[in-house]
Amino acid sequence: MTRQIAILSGKGGAGKTSVTASLIKMMDSVVAVDADVNASNLPILLPHFPRSTAPYFGMDIASVDDQLCTGCGACLSACRFDAISQESDGRITIDSDCEGCAACAFTCPVKAISMIDRKGGDWYVSTIKNGYLVHADLIPGEDNSGKLITKVRNEAAAVAKQQDISYIVIDGPPGTSCQAISSITGTDLVLAVVEESLSGFSDYCRLAELIEKFSIPHCVLINKAGFSPELEDKIIAAARKFHGTLLGSIPFDAEIPEALQDLQSLSDMDKYKRTMQNILDELKASLTH
Ligand code: SF4
Ligand code: SF4
Repeated sequence: MTRQIAILSGKGGAGKTSVTASLIKMMDSVVAVDADVNASNLPILLPHFPRSTAPYFGMDIASVDDQLCTGCGACLSACRFDAISQESDGRITIDSDCEGCAACAFTCPVKAISMIDRKGGDWYVSTIKNGYLVHADLIPGEDNSGKLITKVRNEAAAVAKQQDISYIVIDGPPGTSCQAISSITGTDLVLAVVEESLSGFSDYCRLAELIEKFSIPHCVLINKAGFSPELEDKIIAAARKFHGTLLGSIPFDAEIPEALQDLQSLSDMDKYKRTMQNILDELKASLTH
């Protein structure tokens, strides 16, 4: 049976992707997923070899058949998004504000408007040294990132099944938006990477509330720790309140961002190898509870 672990932080900059890459690198066999489709960073930290690429079609867009259009203008008033214009020569054009609602297509008396696929990005399957990486790039400004996250997660599940791989590890997007929801639904465990800061604390509380709503067990890893014992205590108390299992903490260490610049993650650093192995062991143990 394939088990899915999602790794999230309530905010950006908490070190989530570095932790995720470290854990993935230490696993025997894994399908890694980068669910941060707006800013995919996991592929930067995981050496990978592309195997396949496919376009992603997020939503439909209206398209006008100039041969059929009579220039009556009925579609202009039907569009609530001001995406339709009529040129001086009477020609109808549709711009990128089109939300794909199809109201114009229903309104057009001569059926000159049809709804066609609009490319929203690309998704990729690559090999990594111990498994596979599935990630995607959403075209800037495109919507429907939740649908693309579902797409990469479904593809990852198919790869795991085909290759008989027991773990899928998902690097989720920062925050608690609908993309975070798309990243955690149906997972077996969430690891919350919590920066030891005031905003890290409040963002964790929001994330923990979200995780609780989905009745998913979660673990907590405090990152960039060591500056404020009071804040660390607050995070630990919050983890207890939200039934999170505390896995430990990683100190603030200027060598970590330096290592990241060389594309090294925590598991590549001798002084953090054991810590990361313990965290991985505890995560796996949490899956069996
Ligand atoms: S599909 Fe909807 S948003 Fe797009 S042009 Fe037609 S009415 Fe406007
Ligand atoms: S409603 Fe149809 S026929 Fe009328 S202007 Fe729009 S596309 Fe052309």
